[in-house]
Amino acid sequence: MASTLVYNIAGWSTCNFYRRAESVISTLAILFPTRIRVVQHEFPSRAEYRTWLIDGGFRERMPAVRAHTHASSPFCWISSDVNSTPNPEDILDFIGGHDDTITFARTFCNPVSPGDQSDSVEMVDDGHTLDHGYDYDLVVIGGGSGGLACSKEAAALGAKVAVLDFVKPSPLGTVWGLGGTCVNVGCIPKKLMHYGASLRESIHADAQAFGISGVTDAAGHAKAHQWKEMKDNVQNYIRGLNFKYRVVLREANVTYLNKYGTFLDNHTLEVSDKKGKTSTITSSRFIVAVGGRPTPLDCEGGELAISSDDIFALKDDPGKVLCVGASYISLECAGFLSGLGHDVTVAVRSILLRGFDRECADKIGAYMEDHGVKFRREVVPQKLQKVNGSSRILVTFSDGSSEEFDNVLVAIGRTADTKNLNLGNVGVSTSPRNGKISAIHEQTIQPNIYVIGDCMEGCPELTPVAIEAGLALARRLFGRSKKPMDYKNVCTTVFTPIEYGTVGYSEEDAIDSFGEANIEVYHKSFFPLEWTLSEARQRHQAFTKVIVDTTQNNRVLGIHYLGPNAGEVMQGYGVAMKKFITFKDLEETVGIHPTCSEEIVTLKVTKRSGKDAAAGGC
Ligand SMILES: Cc1cc2nc3c(=O)[nH]c(=O)nc-3n(C[C@H](O)[C@H](O)[C@H](O)COP(=O)(O)OP(=O)(O)OC[C@H]3O[C@@H](n4cnc5c(N)ncnc54)[C@H](O)[C@@H]3O)c2cc1C
Repeated sequence: MASTLVYNIAGWSTCNFYRRAESVISTLAILFPTRIRVVQHEFPSRAEYRTWLIDGGFRERMPAVRAHTHASSPFCWISSDVNSTPNPEDILDFIGGHDDTITFARTFCNPVSPGDQSDSVEMVDDGHTLDHGYDYDLVVIGGGSGGLACSKEAAALGAKVAVLDFVKPSPLGTVWGLGGTCVNVGCIPKKLMHYGASLRESIHADAQAFGISGVTDAAGHAKAHQWKEMKDNVQNYIRGLNFKYRVVLREANVTYLNKYGTFLDNHTLEVSDKKGKTSTITSSRFIVAVGGRPTPLDCEGGELAISSDDIFALKDDPGKVLCVGASYISLECAGFLSGLGHDVTVAVRSILLRGFDRECADKIGAYMEDHGVKFRREVVPQKLQKVNGSSRILVTFSDGSSEEFDNVLVAIGRTADTKNLNLGNVGVSTSPRNGKISAIHEQTIQPNIYVIGDCMEGCPELTPVAIEAGLALARRLFGRSKKPMDYKNVCTTVFTPIEYGTVGYSEEDAIDSFGEANIEVYHKSFFPLEWTLSEARQRHQAFTKVIVDTTQNNRVLGIHYLGPNAGEVMQGYGVAMKKFITFKDLEETVGIHPTCSEEIVTLKVTKRSGKDAAAGGC
């Protein structure tokens, strides 16, 4: 049976908000007498209320930081016992003011929203109690996208939280600050450099057609790119973010420790700082959010290669580059380097962008090839060696050929950074293939140890996924939520020179799962309006396709788009996919003209019809 909640509500007697909230919560107590008890702490005047709340420091006793600035009436919290006067020693949770009380009442009466019945999880009891006696309620190992989001949310819900973040230098010695992969060596520098490359392509391809002069050389090419200037600006921006993250953690009441953590037992970590000084900390719960690192090149001389951990902070112009791998990270790096004017080759063992829609992946390859990126197909590097007397690297490939490069960038996948965590001490195993940890609803086999983000088996390696999973877990551990993280239908974008936005099934996966006869593919090739004036843009078209399940009222299974601003285009369709839209919903949506996105809501031609997928004008 659920235990009784003691709901404390304080305010001054003539305050209408206090009166209203009090009557709502008292009604709840009448309706559910065994589940909720209400204690009123009524003050005769506003002045006396504020003296108690603010001057007397009662609000500062609340674990939730947002309570510390709460000045209005009412002021509501949960305690374990009925105390006739507010007891600062007996506080379980801060609720808030009038609006929060109404929300609390709604959730109390209807904890699971309609249609959400399956969206509720029971976790294994992890033994957490309020008087556990450990240093912290929660220690998060890893201050990246997931770890930061999760630690702040847990602290806001009243938990005493510490987050450890420590960056081990890349083999080349590159290090960075707080914030994890995304901000330092991932999404942020990548997108900025991709933008720089797109800008340069626009100068080259479009400027003249729009009457913009002075930005190209005599041959009509964009002038030489200054790597150092771009790199310095990008790195300065990142340093600003690192600083901001520290401030935000402090404001959120999260203890930040720039220390590396390893497990001693399931409630104790050994932590070491950069000078190697070690100590221990204890916690009731742990969340492992250590992310991943690039998988190194396993061939003779592999240590000469750089990775995405190094490229964004490279001191000197990268020169002629070999990108090894056909992952999205390899193709994105190849794309922006080539767009910035570098001589770039990609070594591909088998296919581009495994796991993505094949037709779209092939179109990306064709676009990149046409824009100067060279592909060496079905080869892998077998040996890297320094060229005598120079900083260049001679690469020998598996087909016997060889070529010199200024830099070799390896992007053949990522391995979860779990090897040195001593997870064996707590009975948690990792995958020998990728180092990832298995979990059910982010809870590992050791109930008080949880895992989120890139180091969790089955979690898409994306920043917003790590963030959402972290928030959902914190709310389940320290709030009243039972909502699981929904890993389905996550939309994403690959920032290659022609951008690719996608959500849901690829055509191949849809055929595998539903059968070829049961799906319909609507598709269209078209010229984005902004490309139409430029001669240099005429060789390629943008492309979209929508895959539907004909046996389920044409429910949309997947949406794909190749063209400008793919991330901006796809985000809204991601919302639509969460709502299980049908093709009719798309058809009935009025487009925004003239945009690329409108092409998705005006699709008519099916692949099966064999008709031309190229569209006409408006
Ligand atoms: C080049 C590149 C481009 C990307 N582009 C995108 C993109 O466009 N969009 C997108 O959504 N995602 C992108 N990603 C993926 C995204 O960056 C990750 O999915 C995301 O950062 C994962 O977050 P996380 O919290 O799981 O781990 P991370 O952000 O990797 O954070 C883990 C942190 O834990 C620290 N740590 C590790 N071990 C310990 C320990 N024992 N003690 C203390 N600290 C430790 C690490 O140093 C790190 O700071 C990109 C990734 C890369 C590499």
